[in-house]
Amino acid sequence: MALIVQKFGGTSVGSVERIEQVADKVKKFRDAGDDLVVVLSAMSGETNRLIDLAKQISDQPVPRELDVIVSTGEQVTIALLAMALIKRGVPAVSYTGNQVRILTDSAHNKARILQIDDQKIRADLKEGRVVVVAGFQGVDESGNITTLGRGGSDTTGVALAAALKADECQIYTDVDGVYTTDPRVVSQAQRLDKITFEEMLEMASLGSKVLQIRAVEFAGKYNVPLRVLHSFKEGPGTLITIDEEESMEQPIISGIAFNRDEAKLTIRGVPDTPGVAFKILGPISGANIEVDMIVQNVAHDNTTDFTFTVHRNDYQSALTVLENTAREIGAREVVGDTKIAKVSIVGVGMRSHAGVASRMFEALAKESINIQMISTSEIKVSVVIEEKYLELAVRALHTAFELDAPRQGE
Ligand code: ASP
Ligand code: MG
Repeated sequence: MALIVQKFGGTSVGSVERIEQVADKVKKFRDAGDDLVVVLSAMSGETNRLIDLAKQISDQPVPRELDVIVSTGEQVTIALLAMALIKRGVPAVSYTGNQVRILTDSAHNKARILQIDDQKIRADLKEGRVVVVAGFQGVDESGNITTLGRGGSDTTGVALAAALKADECQIYTDVDGVYTTDPRVVSQAQRLDKITFEEMLEMASLGSKVLQIRAVEFAGKYNVPLRVLHSFKEGPGTLITIDEEESMEQPIISGIAFNRDEAKLTIRGVPDTPGVAFKILGPISGANIEVDMIVQNVAHDNTTDFTFTVHRNDYQSALTVLENTAREIGAREVVGDTKIAKVSIVGVGMRSHAGVASRMFEALAKESINIQMISTSEIKVSVVIEEKYLELAVRALHTAFELDAPRQGE
């Protein structure tokens, strides 16, 4: 008998029929003797619909009131699931974030959980009830409703699992696990049985959108075993843990991540003096623009070329800031490119293997793909390439690092 926190996302509770199916699933676990806490999202599309209503009143809705409205989506699904369970003879009770007492700070629309009072939940579990909790919402010290940011129900699930010291936090969604890369790009992508928190964080921040990043951080910090599973298909899913023991036998690379979210800016012919990087990037961060990759090169004539990437949404503002800087410091020119893509190989196995980066560069060279920028960390190598080669690059790397699933009949 285990204590399991199960979180079901919007598509899994997107209709009454689906909620009935979720109830069947929860009942199965209950019948097997597990203690269950179920965290739900709003029905798919509902949160967007509520935000849209608010925007019809005001372009910039008051954050506190926006939380009051968007938190209603989850209140609907928890009540429906509790009813469906009770109908099946399974004692159940639903709670809003306020009722459990999921205490957060007062940063409306992006609140952080400070503390969870688990007393009520434990008492219900002891009485044999399934506890159904609204995801995505909490309450601040003064009793204001808060929400945790889009996709925040994952964080609620993990936080509850941490507070209750649950044996596992299961995230049910519309995919059957975490894949070596996006199966829409590489048909031979494979489901991973296991991945570490660190790897998952890299994959998530690089664009693999299975889990909210904050939820993965939280799970890693409190060492909550997380499992991603398909809501309606049977299967083991992907377990996300701290465990690196078996990494010796694991492939060196766990996955290939990519995104088209960045743009590149270059300032050329900057007089190379101490403080140059600060002069260039100071105003960029002053404009609240986040910089990702950075490359600096010094030329023979004591000038330097400086290139960095920003989110594509920030490209225009970054360009304006940089052009001002160029005039002030006497740089030769500023150029930019939005048609780039970032491709990364991710794996804890890299720590114990040499030559991983060069293997990556070799695979790209074979496809005549030019690398524009490179950055590395302990468990990741990223390159920036021309956007039109993105899919080719991902496929080539997936094959080069032996991640392809065996073809039928092989
Ligand atoms: N309903 C919220 C959203 O759509 C929270 C969640 O689904 O996790 O962002
Ligand atoms: Mg979600």
